[in-house]
Amino acid sequence: MKNYYIFFNKNYVRQSDANIPVLSSSSQFGLNVFEGIRVYKEDFFYIFRLKDHLKRLNNSLNLIGFDVELISKKEFLNITRKLIILNNIKTDFSLRITYLVDEIGSWSSIKRPTFFIAPLIKERNSADNYKTAVLTKTKRISKHAMNPKIKCGANYINGRYALLEAKSKGADLPILKNHDGFISESSGACVFLVKNGIIITPSLDCDILESITRDTVIKIFLENNYKVEERHVTEREFIESDEAFLCGSAAEITPIKLIKKDNFEIGRITKFIFQQYHLAVTAKSYDKNFWTTKLDIENYN
Ligand code: PMP
Repeated sequence: MKNYYIFFNKNYVRQSDANIPVLSSSSQFGLNVFEGIRVYKEDFFYIFRLKDHLKRLNNSLNLIGFDVELISKKEFLNITRKLIILNNIKTDFSLRITYLVDEIGSWSSIKRPTFFIAPLIKERNSADNYKTAVLTKTKRISKHAMNPKIKCGANYINGRYALLEAKSKGADLPILKNHDGFISESSGACVFLVKNGIIITPSLDCDILESITRDTVIKIFLENNYKVEERHVTEREFIESDEAFLCGSAAEITPIKLIKKDNFEIGRITKFIFQQYHLAVTAKSYDKNFWTTKLDIENYN
């Protein structure tokens, strides 16, 4: 990974110079909240659903008990612009914004968090790229124990267990069920399936992250007159689906093949949403939803 400039503690520093104490609660206990926000390069840079990412970040900050005023959209855009120039970025990338505690303390620390914003180079998916998936024994964390709606580092240990289990079973990615036995989500993406032309996805009460991409996908399907069902999904329905795909800011639209299925081909509806999603993130369509923020680096004062 390149040693990019990042914004940390109110300064632009090389990534290797941004350090926190090893005994801080963030380093020890995964106490942090974060977002991964995609930026697509076309004629200009386009940031996807920035307002919604900042809203979820604010929600995570509140739910985890951090008392801090969130960065404004304007400040975020200024920092992004500077990072593009300093790092001479000319391609698609992703922005990681993380609030963390950089002082020594316990997991119950209520110290004022600091934040960093770091660019990570992330190319868009290619249309014929699919991943294999397997249902895991590892269950999704329950909203009654660790709220899966909070995008915090510690919650990803659940995803880690599931991912390691999936890999040990020969699959690329896991599909987790929740404690009630219904399909929940993958380790870093939400799940959709298609049956007889109907789009089905686990509802928000299935211990999932309130995914911004999931919301985008549902809206695109509805705008194109597909029937979408948000509800509890059984393992059997999932296994017997005609098509399945994952979605997320990083995963974008990722077709999945269950490891036990033979004769796999990426389905027609998965191909459709893949294309439409890319039109949406690059501001070529769905503009009345105001999902993209255009960043003009040359003409800015
Ligand atoms: N679920 C989990 C557990 C995730 O980590 C992610 C990635 N942020 C998603 C779903 C997808 O969320 P989004 O579409 O907002 O990126």
